Amino acid sequence: MKKNISVEEAREIVLAEAAPTGTEKIPFDEAAGRTLAAPITSREDIPPFRNSARDGFAVRRADFEGEELPITLPRAFEVPAGHAPERAVEPGTVAQIMTGAPVPDGADAVAPIEWTKMDENGKVRFERAPEPHANVREAGEDVREGQTMVEAGTLVTPPVVGMAASLGYPELEVACRPRVAPLSTGDELVPVHAQPGPGQIRDANGPALAAQARHAGARALAPLAIADERAAVRRHFRDALDEADVLLISGGMSMGEYDFVRDVVEEMGMEWCFWKVRQRPGRPLGFGTLEDESGSDTLVFGLPGNPVSSAVCFEQYARPALAKMRGRRRVQRPLHAATLTEAMRSRADLHYFARGIAELDEEGRLTVRSTGAQGSHVYSSMTAANCLIHLPEGLEDPAAGRRVQVEWLEG
Ligand code: AMP
Ligand code: MG
Repeated sequence: MKKNISVEEAREIVLAEAAPTGTEKIPFDEAAGRTLAAPITSREDIPPFRNSARDGFAVRRADFEGEELPITLPRAFEVPAGHAPERAVEPGTVAQIMTGAPVPDGADAVAPIEWTKMDENGKVRFERAPEPHANVREAGEDVREGQTMVEAGTLVTPPVVGMAASLGYPELEVACRPRVAPLSTGDELVPVHAQPGPGQIRDANGPALAAQARHAGARALAPLAIADERAAVRRHFRDALDEADVLLISGGMSMGEYDFVRDVVEEMGMEWCFWKVRQRPGRPLGFGTLEDESGSDTLVFGLPGNPVSSAVCFEQYARPALAKMRGRRRVQRPLHAATLTEAMRSRADLHYFARGIAELDEEGRLTVRSTGAQGSHVYSSMTAANCLIHLPEGLEDPAAGRRVQVEWLEG
């Protein structure tokens, strides 16, 4: 077991153990937010046929050559959207056409209706002549048959759902969502609807971790609050191993009398890959993998019990692991440069994740300030934050005006 490692090393170890959890076919309209596991390839052209970009008249450009405007031509027939043209446009005639309707043979431009006037006998007067090819969308102009439109590994966004629909994909192959078990340990914990007795508090980490896991695209099992009792802890961990791909255990990772999460997991056969990371909050973070009955590896995070530590460790380590497991190519949130509007405290030998509020100043530059008291038990510092401010090792007590990197927590 490694001890007291850097944030970067810890993340590398976690990511090396995280493996994609397989793929499944699901209805395309349930795929938003999932990761595409097979590319979407076009089996046809889009648009599938030459069509009009405007409501107007399909004309033969040659009828306008050398003529003085305005000119008047008879309306021979009409082409509504969703119907094949009944015939071709003959020289010296025009066809009324709607946006998206197939352009009839013979026609090589569409004059918008705003340029024209039609009398009661169906004679159309053109005030202007359309350019050759004006307002005609060619077949395959957007998408060519055989073209890969969306690569595997891409997040399915609403436009990807729309693209799947227009290309005729009722099902999409996507990466499976990893299953996550939030397990809170501590004699002091009671669930949300219970009235805490003397010395007790409500379990905040379990529900918060379940929500974080869902937000990260995973499936969260119902959070469990487990008393500090070896047999109970062991039984619940074992059950969770069979049901989940990731255990998010919180509490019991420190040096207290009843902090035996580490021991219990070791008794179950796990070797911790690391324990303790040079960071604040979340220093006593532990991580390892444990085989379940079927022989597949489950990731085990031993998160410190303080709610801020638990939340920050999830964001830094569990979220990227889940992203990799669900097939994402980019697993880490991007960092953005921002200017501190106030001095902050940080030790040079730890990577700090301070809770911050980032916003644009009047000149449109990104600035950031602390949410206030930064103790790892101060949960309000987390709920008020829209970002984490990274104050890496080597940086001590940065002054106001210092450029730092922030990581958005929203979106
Ligand atoms: P531990 O890591 O078990 O030593 O707990 C550290 C601190 O976090 C203690 O003040 C615990 O009461 C608190 N804590 C532990 N687990 C939770 C939880 N699930 N929800 C809220 N607070 C917790
Ligand atoms: Mg505890």
